[in-house]
Amino acid sequence: AYEGILRRQSARESAARTYARSLPIVPVRARGLTIEGADGRRYLDCLSGAGSLALGHNHPVVLEAIRSVLDSGAPLHVLDLATPVKDAFTDELFATLPRELAESGRIQFCGPAGTDAVEAAFKLVRTATGRDGLLAFTGAYHGMTEGALAASGAAPSVRVTRLPYPQDYRCPFGVGGESGARLAARWTESLLDDPKSGVRRPAAMIVEPVQGEGGVLPAPEGWLRRMRELTAARSIPLIADEVQTGVGRTGAFWAVEHSGIVPDVMVLSKAIGGSLPLAVIVYRDDLDTWQPGDHAGTFRGNQLAMAAGAATLRHVRENGLAERAASLGARMLERLRRMAGEYECIGEIRGAGLMIGIEFVAPEGEAGPAPEGHDAGAPDAWHRPGQEPGDNAATGPLPASPVRAAAVQRECLRRGLIVELGGRHSCVVRLLPPLTITDEQTEAVLERLADAVAAVCR
Ligand code: PMP
Repeated sequence: AYEGILRRQSARESAARTYARSLPIVPVRARGLTIEGADGRRYLDCLSGAGSLALGHNHPVVLEAIRSVLDSGAPLHVLDLATPVKDAFTDELFATLPRELAESGRIQFCGPAGTDAVEAAFKLVRTATGRDGLLAFTGAYHGMTEGALAASGAAPSVRVTRLPYPQDYRCPFGVGGESGARLAARWTESLLDDPKSGVRRPAAMIVEPVQGEGGVLPAPEGWLRRMRELTAARSIPLIADEVQTGVGRTGAFWAVEHSGIVPDVMVLSKAIGGSLPLAVIVYRDDLDTWQPGDHAGTFRGNQLAMAAGAATLRHVRENGLAERAASLGARMLERLRRMAGEYECIGEIRGAGLMIGIEFVAPEGEAGPAPEGHDAGAPDAWHRPGQEPGDNAATGPLPASPVRAAAVQRECLRRGLIVELGGRHSCVVRLLPPLTITDEQTEAVLERLADAVAAVCR
């Protein structure tokens, strides 16, 4: 049956399906960090529904919240009408937001997916500002619909200006001696101030406080504050895409808290639905220039997702799981960095909280990047030599190695550990464990990972 399910689905489903190609398993049961396959094998799941399972699989408080809606006889589908469930979710969400947004912000329910909320944010800022262009960053990932793709650099767009996302390890400018963050900020400022650049009054800047699909790149706090200053001084709304970084993942409830900035718009999805589909934007009320009907849709009132989401938000807040993610993540980074010291093929260990990346590189004489990441935004805008920063894949100490990263992912799976890849060349092994992972489970994850790395890198 197990083989049959795999075979039939791979024959019938689109060739575009992503996770199922690198993870040929058939999950039938799950609890917390653990997934059990139809073949009886058990896996430690550090993909967590692409970071959407803050509390892991089937957490009792989430199940209880879903059950209570089902048992109450409340309608499951009511478009975007007012309901007690929605009221409770909104209260719970607003209790977590930065003060300025909590006090006077607005919320718009956008549909099931993160990409829906990204599109809504773009529409909102265009309506509010009367302007069209967007500022987005190299390596960004915002989703798979047209606007979100364009902002991810994966679809050419005349409306999106691409700015360098800061990184020291692979500085987009390929120069040593100066921090990537400082150079990136200066580049951005000069573009904004150059009357010939055509980007002086864009509708918004969109930024991930930690790039996830882009290869786990935490934005330096000072750089993010600088982006806030530059946009505020020019009345450019700043959109923070916290789809992946939200709900405690990075060691703060929202990742913008690390730098203390308050964005004008926050894009939220994944964990806010407590494992069910939910996506919203919250924003400064003066941006709410939409007329009735300007942004509508059928599935914006998912009662089960709101109930599961409210329970998740409350559990994370009441149990200090963001703080737990911060301390556990720091310990994991330290352990991984110690391990990395033993291997030439590990280029860098990066992370924030329980969002961790291990970049693999090709030691001297080995082939560099070949395959492009299937899920990474594949930014390709820096191709005018002398004018813009270059493809940074080769400007670190050694070229990126998608081959090593894919081999480590396979070896992890063989050892019962599910991890995902990311980064422009899919050279980064990513860990996104649930915030509820225990110390003992953390040890098991690190052990299996170390064994897998040893098998590939020797
Ligand atoms: N923004 C970010 C930062 C993401 O990580 C993702 C998904 N990986 C999205 C947007 C898109 O979300 P969805 O896949 O639910 O459309």
